Amino acid sequence: MGNGEGFQCRECGYRIDVWYGGGMIDPFKMMSKTKKKVEDGEYGPWARKALENHPDASCYHRNALFKCICGNYASKSIVSIRGIQGDAVSYRPIMRCKLCHRKMKEVSFIPDELDCPRCGESMDHVDSILWD
Ligand SMILES: [Zn+2]
Ligand SMILES: [Zn+2]
Repeated sequence: MGNGEGFQCRECGYRIDVWYGGGMIDPFKMMSKTKKKVEDGEYGPWARKALENHPDASCYHRNALFKCICGNYASKSIVSIRGIQGDAVSYRPIMRCKLCHRKMKEVSFIPDELDCPRCGESMDHVDSILWD
């Protein structure tokens, strides 16, 4: 299950497209695929290092939503790494805002009403996509 949302500014045309949730249709097949990607370094050196230290850990892929204090939103495909006991292996994805380059914070949802992070005008909700 996942959601896609698109917002566009009425004033300057700035657009935010976000995807969140995960598409885990076949978790076991997906998991080994995801693990392979982590080993290949596709999710960055920190994720690879975390897996190197915990070779038996499971890797789950999902789309995470991030918010910046400037008001910008963005999403990124990230990986969660979990140990055999289900404990989370310390690895945190880092997302930087493309507008102000500050570190963004992970959030669980996007509000219905958004103000443009670039010019402050209200944004229109232009797209809403659901998949399962
Ligand atoms: Zn704007
Ligand atoms: Zn920002």
